Amino acid sequence: MNHAMELPSLPSGTLEPGIYIVATPIGNLGDITLRAIAVLAGAGLIACEDTRVAGKLLKHLGIKSRLQRLDDHASPEVRARIIDEARHRPVALVSDAGTPLISDPGYRLVREARAAGVTVTSIPGPCAAIAALAMAGLPSDRFLFAGFLPVKDKARTDALAALAGIEATLVFYETAPRLERSLLAIADLWPEREVAVAREITKLHEECRSGTAAALAEHYAAHPPRGEIALLIGPPVAAEAPLPDTDALLKAALAEAGPGKAAGIVAKATGIERASLYARALELKGE
Ligand code: SAM
Repeated sequence: MNHAMELPSLPSGTLEPGIYIVATPIGNLGDITLRAIAVLAGAGLIACEDTRVAGKLLKHLGIKSRLQRLDDHASPEVRARIIDEARHRPVALVSDAGTPLISDPGYRLVREARAAGVTVTSIPGPCAAIAALAMAGLPSDRFLFAGFLPVKDKARTDALAALAGIEATLVFYETAPRLERSLLAIADLWPEREVAVAREITKLHEECRSGTAAALAEHYAAHPPRGEIALLIGPPVAAEAPLPDTDALLKAALAEAGPGKAAGIVAKATGIERASLYARALELKGE
């Protein structure tokens, strides 16, 4: 029986030479894009993290392009050969799953290709970090993706603490065996922040569970998780970083100085922009 998918019609030879960064599914094969299929089919060479994993996807798609391993240990010579080839024909880069370069190989290749004047094109598609952010219900207007947390307890806590003041949702990749310890570390640092665990996204057992880190740690202690996991931490909550009571500060300063000087004193003390403090100082003076 032939399981190959039907390819979208794209006349061969229409792809310009260059490097095409091609996102592939993170679980559900239906998430491959039409453009990704066309580029993989039209590429003269596909650089991939693991030839067996890429081979499986290509077989499913009925594509027979040449494969070349390019993982984090690839030598500069391997990269140079790929870049050289990309001057003459389209070369695709895929990782085992999702978007290459996002906690996956590809950064050096892209940097060196660009420096060598070779065109680099992105063929966007699945990315677990973005899929998790989209479904977690945490603020999505500002986020910081920080890859995998360190394995050792102290290094993990230090890495988390270094992100304490970031006013954004933090997104990490995590593994099932380490999830509980990471949640406990987060619970120690930020007991009140909302945390989300997005697991097996796009797969049969997809789930996204949110709550405090302590509650999630308790849940996963009782139900050891399986599969692939993205871990998200909501931005600091008010109790962690109390906003300065600027009115009180301004009133105290106004008792001894005019609005201009009072605004300057409070601006220096709080780091808040002087102009807005001055406007408020004038209002308070008039009250
Ligand atoms: N480049 C990939 C991307 O764009 O998402 C990520 C590669 S990274 C080596 C693999 C990690 O991504 C996994 O350990 C897990 O943390 C996360 N991940 C990948 N697929 C996932 C999925 N279906 N659900 C949740 N997390 C996933």
